[in-house]
Amino acid sequence: MAGPHVLIIGAGLGGTSLAQALRKRGIPFSLFERDTFEGARFQGWAISLHSWITSDLLESTKGDLPDLGTVGITAHLGVPSEGAILNGEDTSEIRRFSEGPGFQFIRADRAKLRSWLLTNIQIKWNKRFTHYEENEDGIQAFFEDGTSYKGDILVGADGISSRVRHQLLPYANTGTNRLNLGVIMGEVIAPEEQYRRWSEIAASFYVGVSDGRRIFVGLKSIADDQKSAQYYWMYTWSDQQASQESYWTAKASKEELHTFVMNHLEGLHPTLTEPIRETPVKGMLQPPLQMKDMVPPELPTGRVTLLGDAIHPMTPFFQGEGGCQAMKDSMSLARFIEALPSNGKGVQNALEKYHNEMRPRAKESVLRSRAAT
Ligand SMILES: Cc1cc2nc3c(=O)[nH]c(=O)nc-3n(C[C@H](O)[C@H](O)[C@H](O)COP(=O)(O)OP(=O)(O)OC[C@H]3O[C@@H](n4cnc5c(N)ncnc54)[C@H](O)[C@@H]3O)c2cc1C
Repeated sequence: MAGPHVLIIGAGLGGTSLAQALRKRGIPFSLFERDTFEGARFQGWAISLHSWITSDLLESTKGDLPDLGTVGITAHLGVPSEGAILNGEDTSEIRRFSEGPGFQFIRADRAKLRSWLLTNIQIKWNKRFTHYEENEDGIQAFFEDGTSYKGDILVGADGISSRVRHQLLPYANTGTNRLNLGVIMGEVIAPEEQYRRWSEIAASFYVGVSDGRRIFVGLKSIADDQKSAQYYWMYTWSDQQASQESYWTAKASKEELHTFVMNHLEGLHPTLTEPIRETPVKGMLQPPLQMKDMVPPELPTGRVTLLGDAIHPMTPFFQGEGGCQAMKDSMSLARFIEALPSNGKGVQNALEKYHNEMRPRAKESVLRSRAAT
């Protein structure tokens, strides 16, 4: 089917899954990314794909993509994805969840997942979007290199600092909500004896909570010779001051972050804290993440829309579902665009239907992630 031409800004999880969903439906699109090539920027460690998204994802992609299971961090070792929730003080109580019949949970390597989503998609790399101009006949997107492209719909899939959102909803940028949560992260290489022990708790990641403190430990990768594995962890705590941009962690040195976290592990079970205690100063991440979210505001009627973190960033604490919701947005949007007549009339109406579906769904997700923070 031909149809309206869709301009997508941003080739993250949301933008690439939209590109796949449009490709499957034969709807023309152009995908623009500010990065200069696929591996230009660290894509993050790992991401949980829940069964409610894996089935949708498979349905809205063509059959020429590799098996989705191959994006799992431990897939090449034949080890199924597995997560666990522990009592932070007593690790004998472990609630595990893993892939099983009717439940395809995949702990995906983010770079592999993005590559999977890029299969047979043409990207215009090195295109940093600056602004758009809209009129009755269409929309034109402008880029920092002086080029511009015309289309019928513009989709801002350009992440939490979205430039498309800055133009579409200038008032909403101040509404991005900083949470009262201190965050410190680190990375550690574990030798075989150690990582095999950690993976007995859960193959992919585990989370322990106690007394307002939370520790997340996740597997990033296992070395080809399986003699070591790379892990990352996140230590979080509640603090009313943490919502301030100038919170102390933002400017703290690696040594200061390291000292702080080592001094705040008391009362937590040694099994849970071992990856942190094993982390050298150089493994500390600086500056640490600052947790922000935003309940999706109302969007004006027109040819421009937003998806994923551009419209509803959320914390990763309720199942970690920001990326899955971004993909859900893409599939929903593609369905409404597909329903348009081939002359492309009714774009505004299609986008309104998408907003009506996306906003309550994403709001619920943002709020339950905030409540779990
Ligand atoms: C620590 C952590 C753990 C998480 N874990 C999970 C998890 O387990 N499961 C889950 O579902 N979610 C998780 N999330 C959330 C998830 O990472 C995000 O919700 C998801 O990446 C959002 O996808 P997106 O496509 O909207 O934005 P992004 O992934 O941020 O992609 C935006 C893209 O737009 C590009 N771009 C930006 N500006 C421009 C511009 N001006 N011009 C052109 N291109 C531009 C960027 O380069 C980027 O490629 C986690 C988040 C964090 C911080």
